[in-house]
Amino acid sequence: MIAAESRDVVVVGGGPAGAATAILLKQAGYDPLLLDRATFPRDKPCGEYSSPRTISILRRLGVAEAIEALPPHRLFGMRVYAPNGTHYTVDYHAVTGEHYALSIPRLTLDTVILDGAKRQGVEVREGARVKTVGPYVDGGRTLTVQTKAGERCIRARLVIGADGHHSVVAKGAGLTAARWQHCWPHRVGIMAHYAGVTTLEQYGAMVVGPRGFDGYSGIAPLGGGLTNVAFVVGMRAMKRRGMPMEQFFAHCIEALPPVREALVGARRVGKIHGVGPLAQGARRAVADGVLLVGDAAVYLDPFTGEGVYKALRGAELAVEAADRALRAGHTDVKMLRPYLAARRYTFAEKTLANYLVQMFVHLPALMNYVTPRLGSRPALARQLVLVLGDLGTKREQRGLLSPVYLWNLLRP
Ligand SMILES: Cc1cc2nc3c(=O)[nH]c(=O)nc-3n(C[C@H](O)[C@H](O)[C@H](O)COP(=O)(O)OP(=O)(O)OC[C@H]3O[C@@H](n4cnc5c(N)ncnc54)[C@H](O)[C@@H]3O)c2cc1C
Repeated sequence: MIAAESRDVVVVGGGPAGAATAILLKQAGYDPLLLDRATFPRDKPCGEYSSPRTISILRRLGVAEAIEALPPHRLFGMRVYAPNGTHYTVDYHAVTGEHYALSIPRLTLDTVILDGAKRQGVEVREGARVKTVGPYVDGGRTLTVQTKAGERCIRARLVIGADGHHSVVAKGAGLTAARWQHCWPHRVGIMAHYAGVTTLEQYGAMVVGPRGFDGYSGIAPLGGGLTNVAFVVGMRAMKRRGMPMEQFFAHCIEALPPVREALVGARRVGKIHGVGPLAQGARRAVADGVLLVGDAAVYLDPFTGEGVYKALRGAELAVEAADRALRAGHTDVKMLRPYLAARRYTFAEKTLANYLVQMFVHLPALMNYVTPRLGSRPALARQLVLVLGDLGTKREQRGLLSPVYLWNLLRP
């Protein structure tokens, strides 16, 4: 099919990664076209907690005022519960004296960011599903896009894939199936909103399950009397129980005492949403004429709560790379490759910290051992809080990954 339209840049996906990318491209003087298969407001299963550094990026995107006007619920930190019930509070506010996490329903957050893109002049087409991404020919790729009006082809010198899990752009560019995908535990995420939770206000909770539960829960008060309750559990454990979703959700609540206690007197409002398997990722975040950003580029377990931050920060890095390539007049992989190095430099410590935390989550006995030690070793705890909150200097972040840190944490 001959392309009906030709653009410099097309962004596929209007979640945090795509909307942020489009805003920054517009601010850099480009005229991006953003396509999303959904019509906003649209929901997205998520713990709905955004790490403390997120607000500074929302300011750069020009949407912080709209977010502040909601107003957002502020969380000073998260109480992390080990399987034996001991807990340590990851307190951003106490450690830095200023930072807090935002807790906003994704239905609202994503719409506010996308509205910000529209306000800043980005052309957004909703109800536009990208079906295929063609090969790189003559310095660009052709997308097949399905809308209510029918199918049309759009050619772009650069396609930015911000289409989340199971990215069509990653697939079209031959980037799916990361090798680690096959060894990462296959888990699913399920979440629902509750009204009437009174024990949590300025702190959320992360509750690690005992052996056999194979997962954890995150609870985040959202303000306005609503609380997000999410579980991330092994697919096999879920299948083994063979329960309908409602029953399985109730079983998860009962299995984790801190969750059960927090929900005494509370009632679920709305449906239970689920997503999985969670371990999906791209082989690489670049190909000829393609950059991937947000969940389309990489997916990490959500325990450390950086998905939205990473989507927004990744957008900043993607636009730097896109701008360089478009100005040079070449969008081949050689021109786009510096994006990989920028992502590595920016995210390496947090990614490794995420793996480290996962190791503790998988080994309940280790989690039981380490959690009380954080309370009595404030310097180590401070370093952990800075990394988990995407705060702190590069040096502080690197410190967490040194063998000395691990030794000080694990020594009797
Ligand atoms: C259970 C669970 C809990 C989580 N908890 C947290 C948390 O507490 N904090 C946190 O920061 N992160 C959390 N995350 C991760 C976070 O949700 C993601 O990292 C984040 O949504 C990534 O944003 P994105 O813009 O890349 O993708 P998405 O938000 O998924 O947006 C992708 C967009 O692309 C569109 N799209 C998809 N395919 C197409 C197509 N073919 N054509 C056109 N459009 C398309 C979709 O409609 C969607 O709007 C959690 C994830 C899960 C699963």
